Formats: sequence, structure tokens, C-alpha cells
Amino acid sequence: MRKKIVAGNWKCNTNLQEGTDLAAAVDKLVAEKGADDVVVILGVPFTHLTNVVKTVRTNRIGVSAQNCAAEPKGAYTGEVSAEMVKSTGAAYVILGHSERREYYHENSEVLNKKLALALKNDLTPIFCCGEPLEIREANAQNDYVKKQLEETVFQLSANDFKKIIIAYEPIWAIGTGKTASSEQAQEIHAFIRSAIVEKFGKDVAEEIPILYGGSCKPDNAKELFANQDVDGGLIGGASLKAEDFLGIINGF
Ligand code: PEP
Repeated sequence: MRKKIVAGNWKCNTNLQEGTDLAAAVDKLVAEKGADDVVVILGVPFTHLTNVVKTVRTNRIGVSAQNCAAEPKGAYTGEVSAEMVKSTGAAYVILGHSERREYYHENSEVLNKKLALALKNDLTPIFCCGEPLEIREANAQNDYVKKQLEETVFQLSANDFKKIIIAYEPIWAIGTGKTASSEQAQEIHAFIRSAIVEKFGKDVAEEIPILYGGSCKPDNAKELFANQDVDGGLIGGASLKAEDFLGIINGF
């Protein structure tokens, strides 16, 4: 039985007080009303990690960074290493988000360094993949996503690969209010799982959670999460409102 996971990605939003309050509100709602078989992850800014880790009391909520450095330590002004993230008590790190690939030019080579450091420091990578609109319009999304995986997480050993979470996020659906239809989501999630079967075998593929991301909201989560190969969501905008986030958590 694969884990059900709902992960929030707060991006560059909330100051420290607002973020701590949001974490406390999510913690309270999840404790009181959240489905108890769902793993909840809060992907917060680096500056908030320590406070959010201390604020969250519900044991099914974990805390995630949204990035980590590609180098272990040293003269890299402004960078935050995987070891630093781990030392805050965070357990996860989002890697390969399309915003980082696009705005910060993170390519597969950089992502592979980050993946290795995350794993070395016992952080669970939430690894993002997904196609831009023109690729979807050309119906070439499967090849595009497979190549993204082949260049990165498919380079890991089976043992390391088993530790990751995959998030499929069509770029045309991120923050646009346009969601992939339930059929589109199931189709590509099943394709990703079949690519994992090919690479690592059926047992590994059956274990890997594949999350959907892209304008997931309380009113469409149920339909998306009902699909056999959709194991939950990576949630941007709707993770900034505790009630909406709870609605998604309870969408299974
Ligand atoms: C994201 O950026 O990971 C995301 C899914 O954003 P949104 O839910 O706002 O589309």
C-alpha cells in the first residue's frame, strides 16, 4: 500500500510570523479534522524551517525545504546546504521544481548533485518533473518527462530511488488555475510508473509515491486523488490557506 501524501509548497511567501502562524493553524486542523492516513508535508522557506519544526506537533506532519545547495559546504555565499536543512529537523527537500529549473537554470547535472547530497543527509527528495505547454500541445509529454527522469533520478541506485517521492507538475497548470484533467493526470502518472517498472522493476514502482501538482484545490483534489496512480498532491497556492489545505488533505 503506497503512502498518501499532501505536500505544501509555500514558495517565497509569508514572513516568519505569518509562516509560523500558518504552520500552527495547519497543525491544529490536521490534528482535529485531518485524515489520519495521510502524510502531510509543509514546504517552507529556509528561514522558517526551525520555527515550523518546533511549531508542528502532529506526528504525521513533516517539514520540507524547497531547495538545497549543490555543494556540501564552503565558499558559496547565500547557499543553504542539505546538512544545514537536516540540522533544523526538516525531513524533506523539494528538488527540480520548474520555477528553479526556469529562473535559476537548474539542469540535470546540478539536480543530480543536490539529489546526492539530500540523500546523503537523510532528507527525502520530493523530485519534480513536468512539461511546458508547447510540449503538451505537441502531445510529447511522455518522452519529455521520461527524459527528465532518465537524466536524474533514474541514475540513482534502486535502493536510493526507493527513498524518493516524485511530483508530476505540468508547468502549464502551475499557478494558472488550469488543472490537468483527472484522465490526463492518471495517464501520465501511469506512464511514469511504467517507466519506473522498466528501469527498477515492479516492486520498486509499486512503492514510489507519485504526486500531482498544478492548481490542485479542495474542489478538484477528490477527482485527481481517486486515480489509481495519483498518490496525492504537491500544492502551491492552496497550501497558503490552512482550511483549503485541509480540504485537499481530506480529498482522498
Ligand atoms: C507548485 O508550484 O508546486 C504548484 C503546484 O503550484 P499551484 O498549486 O499554485 O499551481
